[in-house]
Amino acid sequence: DPLKFKDWQIAEQAERSMKRIDRLADDWGVLRDELLPYGHYLGKVDYAAVDDRLADQTNGKYIDVTAITPTPLGEGKSTTTMGLVQGLAKRRKNVSGAIRQPSGGPTFNIKGSAAGGGRSQCIPLTPFSLGLTGDIDAVTNAHNLAMVALTARLQHEANNSNEFLAKRGVQRLNIDPHNVQMRWAMDFCAQSLRDIVIGLGGKSDGLMMSSGFAITVSSEIMAILSIFTSLSDLRERMGRIVVAYNRQGNPVTTKDLEVDGAMTAWLVRATNPNLLQTIEGQPVLVHAGPFANIAVGQSSIVADRLGLKLSDYHVTESGFGADIGFEKFWNIKCRISRLKPDCAVIVATVRALKMHGGGPKVTPGKSLDSVYTESNPELVERGLVNLLAHIATVKKAGINPVVCINHFHTDSAEEINLIRRAAESAGARAAVSRHWLSGGDGALELADAVVSACEETNKFELLYETNLPLKARIEKIARDVYGAEGVSYTPDALAKANAIEADATKHDFATCMVKTHLSLSHDPALKGRPDGWTLPIRDILVYNGAGFIVPVAGDIKLMPGTSSDPAFRRIDVDVDTGKVTGLF
Ligand code: ADP
Repeated sequence: DPLKFKDWQIAEQAERSMKRIDRLADDWGVLRDELLPYGHYLGKVDYAAVDDRLADQTNGKYIDVTAITPTPLGEGKSTTTMGLVQGLAKRRKNVSGAIRQPSGGPTFNIKGSAAGGGRSQCIPLTPFSLGLTGDIDAVTNAHNLAMVALTARLQHEANNSNEFLAKRGVQRLNIDPHNVQMRWAMDFCAQSLRDIVIGLGGKSDGLMMSSGFAITVSSEIMAILSIFTSLSDLRERMGRIVVAYNRQGNPVTTKDLEVDGAMTAWLVRATNPNLLQTIEGQPVLVHAGPFANIAVGQSSIVADRLGLKLSDYHVTESGFGADIGFEKFWNIKCRISRLKPDCAVIVATVRALKMHGGGPKVTPGKSLDSVYTESNPELVERGLVNLLAHIATVKKAGINPVVCINHFHTDSAEEINLIRRAAESAGARAAVSRHWLSGGDGALELADAVVSACEETNKFELLYETNLPLKARIEKIARDVYGAEGVSYTPDALAKANAIEADATKHDFATCMVKTHLSLSHDPALKGRPDGWTLPIRDILVYNGAGFIVPVAGDIKLMPGTSSDPAFRRIDVDVDTGKVTGLF
């Protein structure tokens, strides 16, 4: 009974009988040579080998899991992703899931496990939370190698004549140390490294300049890992990353620094998705986890491609609310992968809808206000506008929405019926799901609704074509997805937008909006479905390697801070058994 046990205790119990990695792979149809085992219970799958072998096979059904606008009460997207995989398996479907790899920063700071909860989780939990097979480390190294190349080059150009450089076949790049774009990467929340000065030693200790660190999962290389489609595509993107500008104001790339090949070499082993399992034994791919500016909110394209080749149903989580996670899944991930989703699950809870209806704020550490634990249909009813906005977004993509009411034991029948009726009259299917409490057996209604939504014809369509100029694209996302009345620009952002529109090399770039996920608007305090507001764009960033244009309508820290009561205080190792404790 999950009400009596903590998530990690349930996971631990399930881990006693989990499948060994070779058996998990066998059961899923991964051949021995396509599996790269990592210990007894983890492995990677060679996606390219599977792509080759199953090139002519049709894809399974593609299901995205998104949610209403997140609240501090938690909606249970990962829990539902795992629960749906388990529920489809109970209906004898050949099914897999895909979720992101969590970053060490939040894991050691505030977040706890990101593997689901209750009787719907991804295991084994300890390696899942502690770096898995080292993909994020590989991103860190590939990223920092670019910084090593840059800072060494700056020093050698400063200390040596053209003749000296020419003898080594090196052409002077004239990098401007005051116009360096890139910072160093580390995957913890280290606020004191946000802004630093480097090169404080002597002549051979690097040039003195301002610098800083960002969390690894916000690195452009993490974005590349999530959207690359082949090794040659990855290789090419790795050379296009703009590291700095030269004194004439032209970009200096990783290719100019001749470091792009070595960076790719560091990353190769991270390109294969990691194979784990649900607590009921279905395959789950865990791969990539982009965050902040480049948060496309999901695991990798290659993981989804793999799942769709090997399964009849593949469930992928796109995170956040449908305005952010699903919009990027729809217009970035599916545009690049050319994969077509069959349905989207919108996770909603009674509690979160109450908050959207005007329920009080929650204070961490304090017990929940009684409006959240006792029946209050009026508040739910007022919050339904938020759900309706997200249903409309999914329908705009031309696919069939399924509302999953993630059941909490405090929900009343009246509250649930209200949500069900509202979803159905908006043209969505609705299912009450008890996967947190009962695993796959609790998700049968959800699984059936998803199967029937996938059977129905759908007309998946991207929101805009790439010939639509940038400002018009931003306007379209703001109006059609966020419900804004329009868009405003700072003079600086407007100048950048105009320059990007004039640059034909950037017309194919993805538009990756930065906006709070805590409201449909740019203001996290506005719940429900705000109206009468304008989306303020204050900057536009370009990530040349990833091929992202990032309009900034919110303040997102690239290096979060560690709090006064971080999770690491409770993490330890039992020295008798070697078991990690306190992670979750
Ligand atoms: P998200 O992916 O939306 O951030 P998670 O799936 O990680 O949310 O769930 C957040 C937390 O809420 C987890 O600790 C999970 O155990 C808990 N949770 C999820 N669904 C339920 C539920 N129906 N009843 C009780 N707790 C739940």
